[in-house]
Amino acid sequence: MKDVHIIQNGTVIDHLPAGMGFRCFEILKKQNIGTEATIIFMNMPSSKCEKKDMVKIQDYTLDEETSTYLSMLAPDITINIIKDGKIIKKIKPSIPDEIKGVVSCINSRCITNTEGYAAEFFVTSKKPVILKCKYCEFEFKPE
Ligand SMILES: [Zn+2]
Repeated sequence: MKDVHIIQNGTVIDHLPAGMGFRCFEILKKQNIGTEATIIFMNMPSSKCEKKDMVKIQDYTLDEETSTYLSMLAPDITINIIKDGKIIKKIKPSIPDEIKGVVSCINSRCITNTEGYAAEFFVTSKKPVILKCKYCEFEFKPE
């Protein structure tokens, strides 16, 4: 299939499950992608899964923390870094055994929320991802 919008420099997040494209965009907005041009493709045919979403961001390189966060929500994603119209790097983010700072603990009484510490988690399951807070031992699925 031919790409209708080819970006020259930037990031392409591929193999998002159908319906995750917009959620991914919202996460990226929080990570300050600013006003960079973003294209969201939804419900594209895919060989891997039945339908997929894809997000392309012009002039933006996804940082590691955001890659990890997105891979927690969608473990099958591939991140392509584009330079001069070519893919220079293909990243399949792997979920680490421990995570720091990427997400907040969902327990509102947790010390990380009341005292403003950076939350740290053990990854107790990788598919689906389940996190366990190191401070309050609360377990939850990141969203
Ligand atoms: Zn906690």
